[in-house]
Parts: sequence; C-alpha cells; structure tokens
Amino acid sequence: MQADRYDIAIVGGGLVGASLALALADTPLRLVLIEAAAPPASAPSWDERCIALNDASHQIFGRYGVWDALAPQTATITATHISERGRFGVTRFSAAEAGLAALGHNTPLRALGAELMRRVQAQSNLRFLCPARLQTLQLGEQTVELRLDSGEALRARLVVAADGAGSAVRQLLGYAAERRDYQQTALVTAVRTQRDPAGVAYERFTPEGPFALLPKPRLADDREPGYPCSLIWTLPSERAEAMQALREAEFLRAAEDCFGERLGRFLSLGRRLPHPLQRSLAEQLTAPRVVFCGNAAQSLHPVAAQGFNLGLRDVAALAERLQACALAGGDPGEAAGLAAYAAARAADRQRTAEFTDRLVRLFSNRIPLLSGLRHLGLLALDLTPPLKESVLRQNLGHRGLTA
Ligand SMILES: Cc1cc2nc3c(=O)[nH]c(=O)nc-3n(C[C@H](O)[C@H](O)[C@H](O)COP(=O)(O)OP(=O)(O)OC[C@H]3O[C@@H](n4cnc5c(N)ncnc54)[C@H](O)[C@@H]3O)c2cc1C
Repeated sequence: MQADRYDIAIVGGGLVGASLALALADTPLRLVLIEAAAPPASAPSWDERCIALNDASHQIFGRYGVWDALAPQTATITATHISERGRFGVTRFSAAEAGLAALGHNTPLRALGAELMRRVQAQSNLRFLCPARLQTLQLGEQTVELRLDSGEALRARLVVAADGAGSAVRQLLGYAAERRDYQQTALVTAVRTQRDPAGVAYERFTPEGPFALLPKPRLADDREPGYPCSLIWTLPSERAEAMQALREAEFLRAAEDCFGERLGRFLSLGRRLPHPLQRSLAEQLTAPRVVFCGNAAQSLHPVAAQGFNLGLRDVAALAERLQACALAGGDPGEAAGLAAYAAARAADRQRTAEFTDRLVRLFSNRIPLLSGLRHLGLLALDLTPPLKESVLRQNLGHRGLTA
C-alpha cells in the first residue's frame, strides 16, 4: 500500500498537539494530526480541571486567534496570595505591580479543548485522524513511516511527538526519560466559597503538600449560592485516597480547616479526581526527523502551574521555525533545524523544571529546620524586590518567551 505523504505528522491531539496544528494553519505545510481518544470526549486530559494560563500563554493564544473566543469563559487572576499553614506572613503578587491587567486566566480545560478542536477540524491544510493510535514508527533518510492501529501507513518529513508523558513515540524509538515519582496525588475538584475570591489565586503550603484555590469563571445563568473556585489539593498518595473516600461534608470541613477563613465557609463540592504526580524529563528533545513537545518532552508537578504554559512556549518556538522553513521552501525535518530548536528551548525548559521541582522539595519537607528556612524564604521573597520580580517573571512566562 502506498503511504500517504505529509510534511508534518503530529502524534497526540491534546492541548499541545492541537495548539501546534493551529499555529501552522496559515502555512503551505501539509499536516496530519493523530489522536487516540475518540470524540466527543476528545483528548482524555480535557477533564473537569481548570488550567491557569499565564500572561505568555495569553499572548500566544492571542496571536493564534483563540483568545477572543476563550476570554469570556475564563476567570481573570489579578493577584496571588501565598502562605504557609501554621505560620504568619504571606507573599503577594499583583497584576498592578507587574503593570498588567491580569497575572493569568483560570480556564476550564473543556472550554479550551473544545475551542481548539473546533478550529482544528476546520483547518484546510490538516487531516485529523481521530480515533487513531500510532503503533509503529520507522525512521528513514527523507521521511518517517508511521503505522496506525487501523493498519493505515503514513509518511512524514517530520514527526512531532505531542503524545504526553508516557510518549509512545519515545518508547517506540527506545529513548529514555528521567522519571521521579513524587508519591503525591493531586485531588482536583471544585468548591463554592461563601465570599468572593475577587480575582485572587491562593496557594497555601502545608506539611503534606500545597493546597491551591483559584477563582473559576461564573456563568451568566449560575444561580447557585457562593462563588465557584477550583481546588487542587496535593497530598501523599495514601492520604489522598482516604480524603477521596470521605463524605462530602467531611471533605469540605477538612478543606476549610486547611485553608482557613479568608473566603468564609466552603458551601458545596464538585467531583474529586485524583492525579498521581510524577516528573518526567525526556533525555533528548529530538531524534532524526522527530521532535518532542509539551508533556512528551517534560511533564512537571502542578505546584506552580507551569506544565502547559511551558508546553505552549515549546509550540510557539517550534511553529516559528517551521513557518520560516516553509517560507524558505526548506525541509521541516532537517537535522540542523531540529538541533537549533532543541538548543533554543534548553534554558527555558531547564529553568522551569528546576523552579518547579525546588518548590515541591522545599514545601513538601517536614524537617523543622527546613520549615523555618522556607518561612524565611517566603518573607525574603516578599521583602526583596529583585527576587520577587524574578519569580514573577518566571510565573508570567515572559522569560521563556525571550529565551
Ligand atoms: C492536577 C494538574 C493540574 C495542572 N494545572 C496546570 C495549570 O494550571 N497550568 C499549566 O500550565 N499546566 C497545568 N498542568 C499541566 C498540564 O495539564 C499538562 O502540561 C498538559 O495537559 C500537557 O498537554 P500535552 O498535550 O503535552 O499532553 P497530554 O495532555 O497528555 O496529551 C497527549 C495526547 O496524546 C494522545 N496519545 C497518546 N498516545 C498516543 C498514540 N500512540 N497515538 C495517538 N495519540 C496518542 C493522548 O490521547 C492525549 O490526548 C496540570 C497538570 C495536572 C496533573
């Protein structure tokens, strides 16, 4: 059977793969996007979660024409409030001090996923294969041959692996990833609070793990009492299992007890979804005619809400190179271009992975001396303007945009 030929095959139509497809919409490149999960659920990662998009992601989605449709479905974050349970003193970041209207936007994953899919399905230079699962991969001089579970064979000059932390592409090529099991699980749910968070995202560090509460968008027809917020509560995995089994009222009481009284009572609770947490860093960002993007390149702990924001900066950098290559009539899978991409992404990737991992280690540690040091760390962060600005720039994603 003659294999169908493409310039680029994107394996994985999650947030990263779909964003890359969209970024390449106005190019002469022939694309195929291969996603294993069947619609209408589409990518399995598009669950009940909200995702905090930082300012750099807001800018990138603005360039791709996605933001206008998305904005009404997001909750604007104008300030963050970071504290440690059992300690006085907090660190605050505000959009005003950064000279911005917002620090970020808490966005329902389903809304973002639906908007990306709507656009991708209408894209004229793209064939969308879904459900379709990549099964084998053969690297050649000029093209890569991909075989799908349907038996169909495709050829592409470049394969973009956007197939998540357990990347099938990486496994088929026999490439390694460094993995760290944090032995923690993030319980993701929604609560309604008695008082309005008024645009403030709260992160509260506890000896068991961070507890994050972020405002959710309030829909026009929402008549329920209280203010909707998303809650991400990271706990040692065994504790998370026990917390998941609690009755709703008990869980709400435990959450109130952990968070304190800033937003009054917690009035109601959504579905609790467990996400076991691991870090995974691919040892290589490229292989011959292959590039790894998003979680397939690096999957991070959600403590600092950096994972997708970093993945979207991968997308923006890769799309820029592929657009330039297409304009010049070049080969998108050419080794020198891939090496230049990997070199350009190395610093942002390393900085963001280390920043996230340091936060996890520092704030998940119960050693009393460390507890004192991290408390001093929070105070120093609040009182030392250059340090605070550096953390703010990392959170906004601006450093990665200019890397
Ligand atoms: C609790 C939690 C909270 C988070 N909060 C934030 C946040 O606030 N901000 C932030 O920036 N990040 C956040 N993240 C991280 C973010 O969710 C991920 O970085 C992002 O979803 C990764 O997207 P991806 O497309 O790279 O990978 P995935 O979402 O894993 O998508 C991979 C896709 O590839 C498909 N696939 C896999 N194998 C194959 C195959 N063989 N053939 C075809 N298709 C295949 C899968 O079906 C899937 O759809 C959070 C993560 C967690 C766990």
